[in-house]
Amino acid sequence: MSDCIFCKIINKDIPSEIVYEDEDVLAFLDIKPISQGHTLVVPKEHYENIFDVPKNVLNNTMNIVKKISKSIKHISDGVNIGQNNLLAAGQIVNHIHFHIIPRFDNDGLKSWPRKSYNEGQMRDVSEKIKKKHRITP
Ligand code: AMP
Ligand code: ZN
Repeated sequence: MSDCIFCKIINKDIPSEIVYEDEDVLAFLDIKPISQGHTLVVPKEHYENIFDVPKNVLNNTMNIVKKISKSIKHISDGVNIGQNNLLAAGQIVNHIHFHIIPRFDNDGLKSWPRKSYNEGQMRDVSEKIKKKHRITP
């Protein structure tokens, strides 16, 4: 896609620090890292997010997410894997990508704040999710 920054990186039209490349997948360092070694893993074909990516493309990409995570584990104490879909979820670049974020003991990074369910809310939301799931298998 011509106006996609990750497609430009994949096509080598703009530079990036590549840590892995094969026929289907590219992994490169995030330019604004949460921690050193923060890596983005992308399929070379342009898909926007989890909703439109075909299963085989996702599988290829996830295999590399696992592979790179194992490498990053050697330079860190743990890893977070993240993937944002749509603006509400913080997706800025509309080319599906997985964040692999190296974590270190006592690195001070906070996880997301947790909430509680009121009486009955848990069942309600579960039923809504299951209903949609049954309609579109
Ligand atoms: P997201 O919010 O999930 O869409 O994340 C997009 C990520 O792409 C951000 O973490 C950016 O720092 C990263 N990013 C944007 N432009 C570049 C670039 N040219 N090279 C490397 N990473 C980039
Ligand atoms: Zn793209």
